[in-house]
Amino acid sequence: MRETFVVGNWKMNGSRETNAPRLARLASGWKVVAGRTLAVSVPAPYLQQAQAALTGSAVAWGAQDVSEHESGAYTGDVAASMVTDFGGTFAIVGHSECREYSGDTNETVAKRTAAALAAGLHVIACVGETLEQREAGETADVLRRQVSVFEHDDNLVVAYEPIWAIGTGKTATPDMAHEAHELIKSVLDVPVLYGGSVKPDNAAELMAKGAVDGALVGGASLEVESFAAICRAAIPS
Ligand code: PEP
Repeated sequence: MRETFVVGNWKMNGSRETNAPRLARLASGWKVVAGRTLAVSVPAPYLQQAQAALTGSAVAWGAQDVSEHESGAYTGDVAASMVTDFGGTFAIVGHSECREYSGDTNETVAKRTAAALAAGLHVIACVGETLEQREAGETADVLRRQVSVFEHDDNLVVAYEPIWAIGTGKTATPDMAHEAHELIKSVLDVPVLYGGSVKPDNAAELMAKGAVDGALVGGASLEVESFAAICRAAIPS
């Protein structure tokens, strides 16, 4: 049976007050199902709140980025060991928003990934093309370049997130996702999640494709019912 993953990315949203009911619903709403992994990626200041709410539940928690460094004079950065300190088991790395706003490159993403893996975290490394790159027929080359900086690791998962589909309401068709995932897997044999406007009404058909091992969910992960519907769509067959 292949493993199916649903990971919510809360991005820079939430407060202790608004997180509390969302975390409580996650903690009580899910039981462990063999072959399905559920997780949420919270802003770093809320790792402790996630740990308090989700310990012992079927839902894991993690961070949205980690430093390539272990510790030291890197103001504002979060070390992978700080995530594990709060029970976090994974980190997203190389999200397109980090590439766009924080200057992440394929090289820095590779270093962050290595640091996170070395600290014992699972990593969800994000890749994906812009609309211009897709329209210019460059998607395969872009993905190959982005993925080839990683080495195989049992704790590494790639998320294919076409940038034109993130937070836009536009979704890759299941066939587009499948094709991109096959290409990524031909370079690196790891599970590949799809991200980009995954919603309750498209989750099942996206995840039904053989090369799609789950979903990385942004906006819809903030709405308890939407995220629950997407999690239900991920019951392994
Ligand atoms: C994301 O942030 O990783 C993402 C896929 O966002 P959304 O689901 O909102 O498009």
